[in-house]
Amino acid sequence: MIPSTLYQSDKLTLSFELFPPKTEKGEANLYRHVETLMEYQPDFITCTYGAGGSTQTKTLDIICNVKERFDIPVASHLTLVGSTADQLREYLATAKARGVDHIVALRGDPPEGSNEFEQTDGGYRYANELVELLHSEFNDFGVFVAGYPEKHREAPNMETDLDNLKRKVDAGADAIITQLFYCNDDFFRFRDECSSRGINVPVVPGLLPVTDLGQIQRISSLCGAKLPKDFVDALGNTDDQFQVGIDQAVAQIEALKSGGIEGLHLYVLNKSKATVEIMKRMDGLNCPAQAQ
Ligand code: FAD
Repeated sequence: MIPSTLYQSDKLTLSFELFPPKTEKGEANLYRHVETLMEYQPDFITCTYGAGGSTQTKTLDIICNVKERFDIPVASHLTLVGSTADQLREYLATAKARGVDHIVALRGDPPEGSNEFEQTDGGYRYANELVELLHSEFNDFGVFVAGYPEKHREAPNMETDLDNLKRKVDAGADAIITQLFYCNDDFFRFRDECSSRGINVPVVPGLLPVTDLGQIQRISSLCGAKLPKDFVDALGNTDDQFQVGIDQAVAQIEALKSGGIEGLHLYVLNKSKATVEIMKRMDGLNCPAQAQ
């Protein structure tokens, strides 16, 4: 269960997402960037799990080091793919013993080279089952789940995907963090549809500030996010792609704030430069959250 101060105070709840670096040098750099990011007073920091072949213990090590060094609440992402229920229990028990505050409960993608998710013997199939496990056996964690303003790629349509999202919330998720997106209309439509289905937990936009054209094309081909043509054109017609990316991110966040959001989750990709620029332009974001 998340503390009542998250997503309910008059300040926008801010979270940053990291991933486990592959090398020791990468890890040392990561802590340097986190130290810089701490100046903007995030409310918690998360670290991905298993994505891109990273090991599971690495996630716990990174997130626990961040908690210890910077004295900040942390969330471990946890995917159920490839694990039995008992292995998930073991991970959660270790995470609890090591002081992890929250879990981002996920299914995960099929292993590389395969298009279809396969359930592990003795494991689960959908993220709502992992949320049920958390709720019944580990209910002092705050639980976040993933939401898709442009629909999850395997779902036949938005309605089905939203019904499935509701299962995760009904099972006990405290908040929804969205897949990255660049068109705010999709986010607001998604949030309205959540609300009309009785999904009443915070829907928190997940944003990835993009600072060059190659990056945005890669990302969009990986997760299918729609790219505004104006933005792609602007990136293609400038000598300063970094600045164009920052301008776009600031405009996107300002419009989200005007539309009322309770929190903001930034995919910082283990770097601080873009986030620092955004925070400076937005006076640290430390401004009142607006109710929906
Ligand atoms: P689910 O909620 O289980 O949904 C998967 C699909 O099944 C959807 O199409 C859904 O509509 C359908 N579905 C769901 N429940 C049911 C049901 N009960 N019956 C029938 N159909 C159902 N990946 C990683 O590997 N590591 C990470 O750390 C990671 N972090 C992420 C963080 C965020 C905020 C987001 C948005 C995504 C993250 N991902 C991560 C990616 C995620 O694992 C993939 O998008 C994955 O394909 C789906 O995970 P899910 O938890 O949304 O799955």
